[in-house]
Amino acid sequence: MHSLGSIENPKKVAIIDLTSKEVKIEEIPEAIIRKFLGGKGLAYYLLNKILKGTIPDPLFPENPIILMTGPLTGTGAPLSGRFNAVSRSPLTGLFGSSSCGGPFGIALKTCGFMGLAIKGASDKPVKIVIEGDNINIEPAQDLWGKTTSETIKALGPKPKDGTLVIGPAGENLVKYACIRSGERFLGRLGFGAVLGAKKIKAILVKHQNVKILPGNPRKLEKFKKQALEKIRKNHFTKLYSRFGTNTNILYSKEAKILPVKNFSQLDSPPEIYNNSGPFIEQNFELKPNPCSACSIVCGHKMKLDGRWVHVPEYETNALFGPNLLIFDIRKIAEINELCNELGLDTISTAVTIGYLMEAEEKGIVKSNLKFGDAEKVKAFIQDVAHKRGELATLAAEGSRFLSQKFGGKEFAIQVKGLELAAYDPRNSIGHGLSYSVANRGGCHLSAPLFPIEAYFGFMDPHKPKGKAEIVIFMENLFNVINSITTCVFTTFAYMLEDPVIKLTPRRAIKLFMENLTSVTIKFLNISVYKGLFEGATGINISEKELLKAGERIHLLERYLNAKAGLNSEEDTLPERFLKELKPVPLKEMLEEYYRKREYDASGAPKIEKLRRLGIEIY
Ligand code: SF4
Repeated sequence: MHSLGSIENPKKVAIIDLTSKEVKIEEIPEAIIRKFLGGKGLAYYLLNKILKGTIPDPLFPENPIILMTGPLTGTGAPLSGRFNAVSRSPLTGLFGSSSCGGPFGIALKTCGFMGLAIKGASDKPVKIVIEGDNINIEPAQDLWGKTTSETIKALGPKPKDGTLVIGPAGENLVKYACIRSGERFLGRLGFGAVLGAKKIKAILVKHQNVKILPGNPRKLEKFKKQALEKIRKNHFTKLYSRFGTNTNILYSKEAKILPVKNFSQLDSPPEIYNNSGPFIEQNFELKPNPCSACSIVCGHKMKLDGRWVHVPEYETNALFGPNLLIFDIRKIAEINELCNELGLDTISTAVTIGYLMEAEEKGIVKSNLKFGDAEKVKAFIQDVAHKRGELATLAAEGSRFLSQKFGGKEFAIQVKGLELAAYDPRNSIGHGLSYSVANRGGCHLSAPLFPIEAYFGFMDPHKPKGKAEIVIFMENLFNVINSITTCVFTTFAYMLEDPVIKLTPRRAIKLFMENLTSVTIKFLNISVYKGLFEGATGINISEKELLKAGERIHLLERYLNAKAGLNSEEDTLPERFLKELKPVPLKEMLEEYYRKREYDASGAPKIEKLRRLGIEIY
């Protein structure tokens, strides 16, 4: 028995069928939480169970979208307001996950749910409204056609209520439409189009006034203190609090990994300072715009012509900025706001436009889009979201589709159909390996090696040695982080503030990381993640078991993608990175990665390995 107003950390998932309008409840056993942790991992566990070996078209009713919180969500653990979405992407045709930090996750937990699995489709626009145990599917014809902020306003949430909404891009099934959650976004993979195909305009979750009781409150409190202390001390998280992810602009410029003119150059022009964090700080009034329950606060808003707009994140800033030769942060903020309102992923939008600008310059496609012309970019984005005109309708399919149709595959900056983020891998080749093998396509968050190689100098950014091993370690760890569920930026604080790393000279760390990679990995301290998980769940787990869960989640995702048609030929990079300027020596790293991951020649994980990890094979 608990005092009024508190509930045990929920393990219930609601399975909502929009076709039959039925809702079923499934309780997740503790043994499954031990194996898949929560968030991304648990979403994949459920997806595998629901699909039972079938591979639905991404925009068909049979493709479920699973929204899952983690054990930490709502417990008061630092940076634990996040949740994950998993589905089959209309952009890549592969299964993938996307993480977000809006208030949706915590609100869902207060209603007693760990997650939602939504299958089927409605024939008319609907909104799903959740209040405590009650889940209602209600008409939403009046919301159809509205922008994301207009939709949120019409839903009228209280400050702690959770909202997920799509804009016109999602309704029109643009393949890289995003989902908005309050002031944050599930950006990648086109999950806005998955909701659009199901005719879900919005989900509103009404926050309940209850406390989530962790499994082991004393342990959670102990590790919460450790975590906050490390965040407080860490130099990089302090920079993120001040400049947000735009901290990376000047770091990436120095390391020559900033994308310039559709990734055709490695040197940035001096005007890049106009896009940097310090420039934004000096020239605009700013206010915090964090994810829920965050103690780093990398997100900010800026005052632009008298109204508060989102400060563009590093990826958006760099990809619409130097990558399209736009060096006016005001214009980039306007473009960012337009994408946010229409419900478009800024990374895929910018990179697709980068392809079209180069194609125009080379005379391959007549688009009228020219490097540096922000006004044309804005008009084109409106057309893409509404699928107005022939070229914009084609561009709504993404850069891979365009390059298959018109040619110029070498400068379509995508892997497996997913446009790359704002880090040029030619001066961070381990990061190039991670782009090439990432299960969801050209993802910078699957195993981000650019800080290790290009920012902190812990490994030589041009030598292949040790890179496969460190990518595997990072992939497993980031699956843990996205499953327990917290923010990936905690790695700066929780791992770099470890006394072993702090007291060892950088030269020595580099020597160990490059030459004794497997031994060095064992010394990397992940005890805060373990302690927080144990505190939130009451389940004791070893660090080895935790990383094994990360490996299990990675291989389950890979297995499902192999069934969806992924093969080894797609584990590559855009030709530009393999042939121009300083080519990435991918082959050598890739062979080692395959050997260590125990993939077969087609790129699929071996069945014996999956069985050994306890993954259900259908
Ligand atoms: S650090 Fe940034 S991305 Fe991470 S939880 Fe906080 S606001 Fe969100």
